[in-house]
Amino acid sequence: SVRAADKPSYTIATDATYAPFDFQADNGEYRGIDLDLLKEISKSQGFTYTLKPMSFNAAVQALDAKQVDGVIAGMSITPERKAKFDFSDPYYDSGEVMAVGKNSKITSPKDLKGKTVALKTGTVAAEYGKSLQKKYGFKVKYFNDSNTMYNDVINGNSAACFEDYPVMAYGIKNGMDLKIVTKPVGGGQYGFAVNKGMNKALITSFNKGLKQARKDGTYKKVVDRYLSTKK
Ligand code: GLN
Repeated sequence: SVRAADKPSYTIATDATYAPFDFQADNGEYRGIDLDLLKEISKSQGFTYTLKPMSFNAAVQALDAKQVDGVIAGMSITPERKAKFDFSDPYYDSGEVMAVGKNSKITSPKDLKGKTVALKTGTVAAEYGKSLQKKYGFKVKYFNDSNTMYNDVINGNSAACFEDYPVMAYGIKNGMDLKIVTKPVGGGQYGFAVNKGMNKALITSFNKGLKQARKDGTYKKVVDRYLSTKK
């Protein structure tokens, strides 16, 4: 077998607060669909890595500045990002939704005139929210992480936020005082990203490991760990 010292080693950035994909468990360990998958894939493909949890925007900037080798962070594969980064095969389907306070009377972007909307810097959902701003006449406020953004809506400072559907649904299912009021749009998919042309071996390993994980049931086991309907 390959000795640890002989294995390729990478630095991989993640979003510190993006459950069920990336989050810090009570024991301090970073876990979630992304991070459990990465762990399984690294084992099956024989590489090691150091995980760097940070804000999503910081992770993407760190990759762009070549301070890290890769990003796994519920990161949507977009044409703009594909110009800068190489993505793995998609591993999860997403889409953007609008969420409001649990008892809010707001039911659509039409109700946001003159109100403040909370967005998370550097995300596809923020871009989507921003694209509606002119038409619906709301103000925007930016946050670095999802939890702070949600709290601004929960405590009534902001009237709504925009977030990825699987993340918002998971948070609400786990007791967050918000509700989703729009259907998912955008239909994006998540991928693991590295700098363009710079980490072919890592992307190839990731794709191989992902394929294997889908085939041998590991992928399903990891997803079910967080999203299983039967408990
Ligand atoms: N999927 C979204 C994006 O890529 C949000 C990712 C995140 O906040 N971790 O922009």
